[in-house]
Amino acid sequence: MKYVYALINFAMLLGIVWFVARKTVRNALRRRRDGIVEGLEKEASSPDRVEEMRAQARRIADDRDRELDAMAAKSAEALAAERRHGDGECATQRELIFSQMREDEERLRRQMRVRFIGEGVSLASAYAATYLVSPENAPYQTALRRRVLEEITSVISFLPGDLLSIRRSGRLAAAVVSDEALTGAEQEMLTRSISEAYRAASGGEEPPLALSCREDPSCLGGVCLKLGDTVYDGTLRHRLERLTQETESGKEHLSDDDGENLRRRLFRTQPAVDVYQEGHVVRLSDGICHVSGLSGALAGEMLAFPGALRGMVMDLEQDSVGVVLLGDYGTLHEGDPVRRTGRVMEVPVGEALIGRVVDALGRPLDGRGEICATQTRPVECSAPGVPDRQSVSVPLQTGIKAIDALVPIGRGQRELIIGDRQTGKTALALDAIVNQKGQNVLCIYVAVGQKESTVAGVVQTLRRYGAMSYTTVVCAAASEPAPMLYIAPYAATAMGEAFMYAGRDVLIVYDDLTKHAASYREISLLLHRPPGREAYPGDVFYLHSRLLERSARLSEALGGGSMTALPVIETQAGDISAYIPTNVISITDGQIFLEADLFHAGVRPAVNVGLSVSRVGGAAQIGAMKQVSSRLRMDLAQYRELAAFAQFGSDLDQATQEALCRGEHLTAVLKQGQYTPVTAADQVVMLFAVAEGYADRLPLEEMPGFTDGVTAFVRADAPQVYEAIDSGEKLSQEMLAQLRDSVERFCAGA
Ligand code: ATP
Ligand code: MG
Repeated sequence: MKYVYALINFAMLLGIVWFVARKTVRNALRRRRDGIVEGLEKEASSPDRVEEMRAQARRIADDRDRELDAMAAKSAEALAAERRHGDGECATQRELIFSQMREDEERLRRQMRVRFIGEGVSLASAYAATYLVSPENAPYQTALRRRVLEEITSVISFLPGDLLSIRRSGRLAAAVVSDEALTGAEQEMLTRSISEAYRAASGGEEPPLALSCREDPSCLGGVCLKLGDTVYDGTLRHRLERLTQETESGKEHLSDDDGENLRRRLFRTQPAVDVYQEGHVVRLSDGICHVSGLSGALAGEMLAFPGALRGMVMDLEQDSVGVVLLGDYGTLHEGDPVRRTGRVMEVPVGEALIGRVVDALGRPLDGRGEICATQTRPVECSAPGVPDRQSVSVPLQTGIKAIDALVPIGRGQRELIIGDRQTGKTALALDAIVNQKGQNVLCIYVAVGQKESTVAGVVQTLRRYGAMSYTTVVCAAASEPAPMLYIAPYAATAMGEAFMYAGRDVLIVYDDLTKHAASYREISLLLHRPPGREAYPGDVFYLHSRLLERSARLSEALGGGSMTALPVIETQAGDISAYIPTNVISITDGQIFLEADLFHAGVRPAVNVGLSVSRVGGAAQIGAMKQVSSRLRMDLAQYRELAAFAQFGSDLDQATQEALCRGEHLTAVLKQGQYTPVTAADQVVMLFAVAEGYADRLPLEEMPGFTDGVTAFVRADAPQVYEAIDSGEKLSQEMLAQLRDSVERFCAGA
């Protein structure tokens, strides 16, 4: 009986247990099933998302096809125009339409890329929001938070700038933002590591730490710590933003496998904590702003503003930094965030820039597609020291008689072109560039503060004479903000330096430095630097000296490359003793002074022989030219004296009349049209003929015919003389006699 009761009891107990457990197990199983079903549904919907993304990509591709069709129609129009118009007009027309097409294509590509990236990233955010923030992913989120926290604690550090501002404010604010509140243990770990790092940096001081934590589901996962001015960002939201920026700036090229690429970058197993300083704009004026909260910023560092706007640190003050804005700052407001990039201003350099027109930051302006430069160089760089240089000894032929004979320029020299407005300064520099064809010299033309139409004209001229194949044009037009004008010559010099250090020869033209100084004055006044003479800041000399000192001829150990600089300065009413002209005259190795009176009298190029000088170029002049031109300067000086004197009287003796006649012919032979460079050997022959008096009896208007004739004749009659001149050595007595004979034969035949 006892056993029967025990059995009944056991059965009842079993029944109760089964009744209770059944419900629990059923509920658990139901939840599990629901979870699986939901998971399956989500899995099933992900192909839809992929499909949606594909459709989006297809739509974008269709749009692009349509636009490309429109462009093809345009090109057909161009061809039709070419058939309709005559040859001369059609070339310009075609060039115009093609450049327009190239600009369109570039714009289109950019738009497509930005749109596609925008779509991709927003889909990825939606993916992250639905999948990661859902409760099933709680363990993943917790693990991610822990890993990010560990990484943050391992990289916390304090710079001297941070310590200074903490001591001054007496407070170290630490604000933590995470998708879920930090646990007590996590907060403690963070506090401990911050204190340890502070003690290590400050020599044992306790930090005046104030830690605050905030929950923000929009950060999608991970943790962000703002400690003083420094941000340690390890949130998924930030990773997405960075991905967008990198892709937009072209660092991350999206492939066909874009979705996979995005996913891999976003959910890399190792959490990457981005450490940066973020401040905000406190004051904003024309092209200048002051930013607070960047205690570690370096002078010359590049700062990132919202959008693609960049700035460069110019002034380091106690509570803020003064920044020049490089680009369109119309959308910037006070209070906007500003990030340090940790890099000084850099521009792309290398072969990819040859033949291109770029702005002061090395971005293309010619609509010929992106510049695929693999290297960059800081815009500000110290000049090579004395042991790194060698003296100037190789000539840089400009093809202009008045310059190659009287003010010769050597490779690595700095020769100033100075004169009033409209005296042919730009023409002279362009002639020098055109003459470098086939000379293995790369050219850079920097247009500072000029009208865009003028620069377009320069580019067109260079194209017409085939000079763009070895030239880079850097343009900071008059309409651009002053900081762009300020940075352009330095950026161009960095581009030239890259070639110079690679052993190449470079010719760089700064057109012109007067406007460069004016833009620096504008920036300095806005930055409240004390104005000095002519309202320029005190360091305006340093502005140009540190620029022009970077031109040099490097020693053989450094590759023997060179950078020849032709800075241009505009004077007012021929006053070369004004502030900026005297500064630049004292920095350069000589000057070519162009005079308005001579220009208007038809002496072009209007080189004033008396005031022009080349202090080092003589060493680089070829031997034969030295022989011919040594008397030239004397004869011309004598002629100028006599000509001024002869105005007062007509009764002149024979010797004076002869000297005047010789001077007139010498002046005539030095006249030269634009873009008609003369080879060094031809220059020697024609100057020899005129200086020796073989042209004295000719009327002045026949001089061009005479010079052309004598060079052609001697070239055919005595080719050995040309060879001797080209060898660069001085002409022997025998060669001089042969040259004289040949010229005499020409004069006898003429
Ligand atoms: P700006 O001060 O406006 O920059 P600039 O000093 O650079 O002027 P250019 O633009 O080079 O002067 O030249 C002014 C004009 O003189 C141009 O129309 C140019 O074609 C003409 N010119 C310059 N040199 C010569 C020359 N050697 N022969 C004939 N014309 C010339
Ligand atoms: Mg000019």
